[in-house]
Amino acid sequence: MSFAQLGLAPSLLEAVAAAGYDTPTPIQERAIPAVLAGGDLLAAAQTGTGKTAAFTLPLLHRLGDTHQKKPRVLVLTPTRELAAQVNESVKTYGRSSPIRSTVIFGGVGYQPQISTLNKGVDIVVATPGRLLDHLNNGNADLSDIQTLVLDEADRMLDMGFIHDIKRVLKYLPAKRQNLLFSATFSKEIRKLAAGLLDKPAEIDV
Ligand code: AMP
Repeated sequence: MSFAQLGLAPSLLEAVAAAGYDTPTPIQERAIPAVLAGGDLLAAAQTGTGKTAAFTLPLLHRLGDTHQKKPRVLVLTPTRELAAQVNESVKTYGRSSPIRSTVIFGGVGYQPQISTLNKGVDIVVATPGRLLDHLNNGNADLSDIQTLVLDEADRMLDMGFIHDIKRVLKYLPAKRQNLLFSATFSKEIRKLAAGLLDKPAEIDV
């Protein structure tokens, strides 16, 4: 199996080649077609399996070549480090695309984040608490979100983010694609997945 066979756009295939990837990892082989098809996804994935590219590549494909002011993709992560990594991946794979992304996390000033949000981005990668602050203050408009990604969902629950996540969900359109990635599947994760996902494809690699 090659990345080209997975149906990704030529510009993404170039970015993947430039990153030095020869073949898709098992999770990429299964997640990329599922995400391209537009459905929901429940994926068991550890760090290091290539899970970031497994969702960023097909989501960039779906966004196409048109920058839009209102964000269409939201990725929630448990930590600022992971948020920054996901944002870097988006920038690497989307290097020849007009799609813009930004990262939102706590512990730093609000103003630069507000001004980036005001300028307009297609993809927001965020930790839940700071994003919720921006939403409550009217600094972020997530009414056009097409795809929500919960990355390392188990860690987000462990860190007590469930209430913030639920509050963020209220700002999103009800009709959207939902992707949930988690290394472990506790009762709590199953409950979250049952409430969030609509007939998800399930991947366990
Ligand atoms: P992740 O699991 O998303 O944290 O990715 C782990 C590492 O694998 C990252 O450094 C990626 O750059 C790298 N990687 C992702 N996909 C591939 C691939 N298909 N071939 C080789 N390396 C990859």
